[in-house]
Amino acid sequence: MERAFEFAKRAHGQQTRASGESYLVHPVAAAHTLVALNMDAATIASALLHDVVDDTTVTIKEIEKEFGKEIAFLVSGVTKLGKLKYRGVERQVENLRKMFLAMAEDIRVVLIKLADRLHNMESLEYLPEQKRHRIALETLDIYAPIADRLGIGEIKGRLEDLAFKYIYPKEYAWLMGEIEEQFRVRQNYIERLKPVFEKRLRDEGVQPLDIHARAKHYYSLYQKLKRSDMDVSKVYDLIALRAIVPDVSACYAALGAIHKYWKPLPGRIKDYIALPKPNGYQSLHTTVFCDDGVISEFQIRTPLMHDHAERGIAAHWAYAENGKNRRAFSFADQRLTWVNQLRDWQKGVRASSEFLESLKIDFFKNRIFVLTPRGDVIDLPEGATALDFAYHVHSEVGDRASGAKVNGRFCALDTELKNGDVVEAVVQANRKPSAKLIEIVTTNLARSQIRKALRRQGIETPILAKLLPKPKPIETHLEITVRDRVGLLKDISAIISRKNVDIRSISGEAHEDAAESLIRVKIVVDNKKALAQLLEDLKKFPDVKSVRSI
Ligand code: MN
Repeated sequence: MERAFEFAKRAHGQQTRASGESYLVHPVAAAHTLVALNMDAATIASALLHDVVDDTTVTIKEIEKEFGKEIAFLVSGVTKLGKLKYRGVERQVENLRKMFLAMAEDIRVVLIKLADRLHNMESLEYLPEQKRHRIALETLDIYAPIADRLGIGEIKGRLEDLAFKYIYPKEYAWLMGEIEEQFRVRQNYIERLKPVFEKRLRDEGVQPLDIHARAKHYYSLYQKLKRSDMDVSKVYDLIALRAIVPDVSACYAALGAIHKYWKPLPGRIKDYIALPKPNGYQSLHTTVFCDDGVISEFQIRTPLMHDHAERGIAAHWAYAENGKNRRAFSFADQRLTWVNQLRDWQKGVRASSEFLESLKIDFFKNRIFVLTPRGDVIDLPEGATALDFAYHVHSEVGDRASGAKVNGRFCALDTELKNGDVVEAVVQANRKPSAKLIEIVTTNLARSQIRKALRRQGIETPILAKLLPKPKPIETHLEITVRDRVGLLKDISAIISRKNVDIRSISGEAHEDAAESLIRVKIVVDNKKALAQLLEDLKKFPDVKSVRSI
């Protein structure tokens, strides 16, 4: 880390940020965020070096020579992700999030990118208006949802709040004016409530490790207000009281203690311990009528749940990395969530190449995401060629394509594309497609466009069975009941993606007895037959108890 710091200092030299500060302030700030997330030395060193390749004459080869393969891999991952551009096109959002995760390859690259973005947002005021808006929008649409998905509540909240005032300046100003008084009133009330709460817990035999007030982040408060007639007095968790207690049974005892003295609001008791949120979040929440009829929210959790709520996947990483605190996993081990599964893949694998392999993000196996030179994302099936790409940009581009530039190098039209390739079609003005081109494309769109162009030239192409337009794909949810075990979700998603089914989302929850879990997978499948076959295959799988499509 020290060598990385010195290296970055020398490389950036006299460079300054838009704020006028030394450039070095930025990588150091990103590194600080990752230190707070308790990340490993390679990640922190990579954060210090993350802008060196893009902004100085240093090459990735030199980084590798100086710091080794792992750090070079992380730095080049961050550099690669920096090339993704988002221009606020609605339909791009989900693709870009997916592509971001797929391209990152290693979860630590994503964490460095989040830390990078956090500091960029903190110093956004120094940039010109246009740029500010683009970056803030990208933060709100891409980065904050990814932080949320990875369960890093603290960074998600900060990113959203920082973007909020640039994207919705009027609403932000309104909110600030509206809540100032409310915040003060609530703060005073909570201060008085805290000792009463603590005494009642102790009276009921619960020893709190910590009790603190939690103010709601502004942006999530604003979202909530939109759902509650913009009436701040209806937001009961503007400031919530949060108790950290030693273990799970103390959580339920604390909930009991609260309900013994204060009547709960119906429908407001949330047991995220038994039923964690999809991102792994666990806590008990309840909203009660306190003394004097004031309505207040309480949150109860263990230290480990607290750590996970703030640091998400980074918390899992740190525990796995230290090797100690193994026991700390046990409370969540039964839970089948996206984050927990990611962690399970990481757990217990030591050999470095195997270890890196286990950090790979392979949810989107059957899709590839490539970029136009302008940074637009084109989502294609695996095996798609440069000609498929050309047709996906525009039918006329496809018709006239004579070749392509892939990552700056000239290539033939049948070149198979890879995730993250930057692709540009090379066109000739009077070119017309020939029948044999049908053989080198894999997408229906490209095939039907080629046939159309051929028909215009008076060439009828025989419609082979495989060239018939496919029926509209079926979108469905699978509910799979399984006997839970480590790595099961990964196995199941592997089975599904092998069948050329597009996985749109995957989530899981544990049943009460924790021996069985329910996995929900949203998929898009080509036809009924393929769906039936997939259901059959899943049913044959040893740990699967039942499967249905709804
Ligand atoms: Mn940066």
